[in-house]
Amino acid sequence: MEVKDTLSATMKTVETREGKRMNMFVCGPTVQDIPHMGHARTYVFYDVLARYLRYKGVRLFYLMNITDIEDHIITKMQETGQSWEQITATNSAEFFNIMGRLKNNSVNYYAFATDYIEEIISQISRLIKRGYAYEISDGVYYRARKFKDYGKLSKQNLDQLMTGARVEINEEKEDPLDFALWKKKKVGEPFWSSPWGEGRPGWHIEDTAITESIFGPRYDIHGGAKDLIFPHHESEIAQMEVISRKKPIVKYWIHTGHLNVDDIKMSKSLKNFITIEESLKTYWPEAIRIMMLSIRYNSAVNFDEKSIIDAQGIAEKISILQHRVNGSDARKSQHSSEIVGRLFEPMEDDMNVPESMVRIVSFVKDSLAKPHLDEEEKGEIKFILGEIEKVIGIVHLPPLPEKSMQVLLDLRNEMRKGGDYGSADRIRDSLKSLGIHIEDTAEGSYLWW
Ligand SMILES: [Zn+2]
Repeated sequence: MEVKDTLSATMKTVETREGKRMNMFVCGPTVQDIPHMGHARTYVFYDVLARYLRYKGVRLFYLMNITDIEDHIITKMQETGQSWEQITATNSAEFFNIMGRLKNNSVNYYAFATDYIEEIISQISRLIKRGYAYEISDGVYYRARKFKDYGKLSKQNLDQLMTGARVEINEEKEDPLDFALWKKKKVGEPFWSSPWGEGRPGWHIEDTAITESIFGPRYDIHGGAKDLIFPHHESEIAQMEVISRKKPIVKYWIHTGHLNVDDIKMSKSLKNFITIEESLKTYWPEAIRIMMLSIRYNSAVNFDEKSIIDAQGIAEKISILQHRVNGSDARKSQHSSEIVGRLFEPMEDDMNVPESMVRIVSFVKDSLAKPHLDEEEKGEIKFILGEIEKVIGIVHLPPLPEKSMQVLLDLRNEMRKGGDYGSADRIRDSLKSLGIHIEDTAEGSYLWW
């Protein structure tokens, strides 16, 4: 398959032979708050990339960091009076919970930044030794201009980078472009001890310390949202290439586009911030996935009511088809395998998932339009839906859309009220044979599966 690599700005062939080991690192969240739809936009894509590589037989190790110490977390401490441990424990637990509900289940290991302080200190010491970092009164900084390739990922020269760099008043810094590797503590801030006094790591060094510890100096894929290219990923390259004297640090840099809400970039200051939890109250996780995957990964996804309602409609159609074939045994035949091949074929071309989605929707619509499906067809459809679920995670598994289940439950309650226990029990027993259980409690009846 081919992917567009940000560093070389070219399409590169990814060797995906069966059994090959590959390592992928994706920048995880800073856990100062609960996850929002921007996280869904980024992590659904890398989840599908990971699932697809594994589907092709690659032995992929998918690593994600969790930034549990950073300026935003300290601001949150000051706002709430909570400790950094409380803030990050609550929000990382919520992040894992939401990722699970969104079916983003392909990450092998989450690495918390504060578990890698020793490795971070080791990297900073090596940078100082090579003359690429220096200590001043408030921290240790990387000498950006000394790294001749600074700007190669974001395709900017030093003057352009200067305009992009945050203007800070720090007269001790040799150059405004220099970025912090270690920040010495101020009163009330969390700290770890280091050769440069008590303090905490900068943001960019945590990723290279984690990847060097787990993967070594070089690995295959580095992912993250586009707005991380500069200065975050640019600085990772500067750190790791100097430390290891090897380049490139990764074979493929893959960056995802933003999420807009009603055509405006989502941000807290604009108050158009949508949490994933809020959306999951109304829409299925599959609908959120479908919406995010219907746009090319490197373009902006627009979240508006129409797109999410359309996506929910598609998810329900897939679910109805799944229901129609649920009782059959999955049948892998030459015919069903060919269909699967055609559905996933666009992913070979720089993960063109939107085109796969178009093919899947038309497959689902055609199958639903058939007035009768024989056992063989049902088995083949079941196999195909199983493969779609494996790779894209958009098949809603409960055998009936929840709303129709509720209708059935209400009907049964009416029967019981009217004393028709025989019919009510028949409904319960036939649902049970489909793996759906009715539980009658003093507060009412509930379904679970
Ligand atoms: Zn990162």
